[in-house]
Amino acid sequence: MAATFLARGGGAAARALRHLHTVYQSVALPETHQMLRQTCRDFAEKELVPVASQLDKEHRFPAEQVKKMGALGLMAMDVPEEYKGAGLDYLAYSIATEEISRGCASTGAIMSVNNSLYLGPILKFGSEEQKHQWIAPFTSGDKIGCFALSEPGNGSDAGAVSTVARLDGNEWVLNGTKAWITNAWEASAVVVFATTDKSQKHKGISAFIVPIPTPGLSLGKKEDKLGIRASSTANLIFEDCRIPKANLLGTQGMGFKIAMVRASWSCGKTRIGIASQALGIAQGALDCAVDYAEKRMAFGSPISKLQAIQLKLADMALALESARLLTWRAAMLRDNGKPYTKEAAMAKLAASEAATATSHKAIQILGGMGYVTEMPAERHYRDARITEIYEGTSEIQRLVIAGQLLKAYRG
Ligand SMILES: Cc1cc2nc3c(=O)[nH]c(=O)nc-3n(C[C@H](O)[C@H](O)[C@H](O)COP(=O)(O)OP(=O)(O)OC[C@H]3O[C@@H](n4cnc5c(N)ncnc54)[C@H](O)[C@@H]3O)c2cc1C
Repeated sequence: MAATFLARGGGAAARALRHLHTVYQSVALPETHQMLRQTCRDFAEKELVPVASQLDKEHRFPAEQVKKMGALGLMAMDVPEEYKGAGLDYLAYSIATEEISRGCASTGAIMSVNNSLYLGPILKFGSEEQKHQWIAPFTSGDKIGCFALSEPGNGSDAGAVSTVARLDGNEWVLNGTKAWITNAWEASAVVVFATTDKSQKHKGISAFIVPIPTPGLSLGKKEDKLGIRASSTANLIFEDCRIPKANLLGTQGMGFKIAMVRASWSCGKTRIGIASQALGIAQGALDCAVDYAEKRMAFGSPISKLQAIQLKLADMALALESARLLTWRAAMLRDNGKPYTKEAAMAKLAASEAATATSHKAIQILGGMGYVTEMPAERHYRDARITEIYEGTSEIQRLVIAGQLLKAYRG
């Protein structure tokens, strides 16, 4: 039924939507970024939209698509060219992540983890040797990385790491379990956080780069998730896992700074990535709702003529576009070397809540068709939810925003 529906009128509506996007982007973005946006949109339309539903159903990693994204420079966007990255700015990363996520949110998550969670810390804190060894091979999409901070006993309370690393001669020996690790099943390396001195609490946490596979490191089962089902999420279990001494990232005790930092650096950057993923999901939901509302007939005319539907569409567009502006502002602040902790938290909070609200309304606009897997609305709804949880829950973002406000007030 849905297939027939799409075949009937897809062309004209899709052209109208494309026109709207073109108008929007031309007033707001530099030409280079517009071109990037178009390239990513074309890629997503051709390579992701047709398979996203199937990947979701089969929980299948989009290996081919990730390689093609690597060839386009999307797997290492802000990595300098000397380490085989695309050498682009963070606004570009935000735009690309949104477009990819609009096509397939799971692929957006895979891309985001490789770019900002795995490559990001190594680029910022790695030695020259580590950068050549652990960045360059992870830029092409042939290999991807992951990031392991959360544990079964702690997520938001990231300083409470219980995984332990001890130095034994020329090797670090890791013991403990990391939970919820995105890309775990496909990754060839992980940036992992472990305590090297429990008495120092969060100041005793250090970061390490661990190749996968390594003896003593095993994978948990793939989590059966509500959304982003084409990306793997699993535990990483370290049992006397030995890695070379040289795999310490930064200096001993610097791990919490690398993961979080007073560092707006790390948190802000990854939060912009998740905000962009949420924008893509919200845009996908809005596109789907507009398209359906224009074609679905009720009481003798398209439901888009009903004000009840128009009010929903207006709220969806408002939430999405205001979140997009917040996200671009945070990205531009970062690109200009300005503080952006509060702005990134606002962007992540606004965009993730916009994704949830927009995809919820899209289902309502589609009625029964919103509730079945033949149409993408239910997938957008499921995919949206995670953006309010990972990289700091909505509650944590509110705490960050309030903390920054109060800090500014108190001077
Ligand atoms: C699909 C998926 C992928 C993930 N990928 C990764 C990954 O690649 N790497 C990684 O390290 N982690 C990953 N995570 C973990 C994710 O970052 C955590 O789930 C998240 O930080 C929340 O932690 P938690 O689940 O332990 O919830 P908790 O910290 O137990 O929080 C439970 C509830 O309490 C609230 N809460 C907690 N503390 C406070 C507070 N101080 N004030 C107000 N409310 C509070 C939270 O907001 C939440 O509502 C992933 C999680 C999922 C589900």
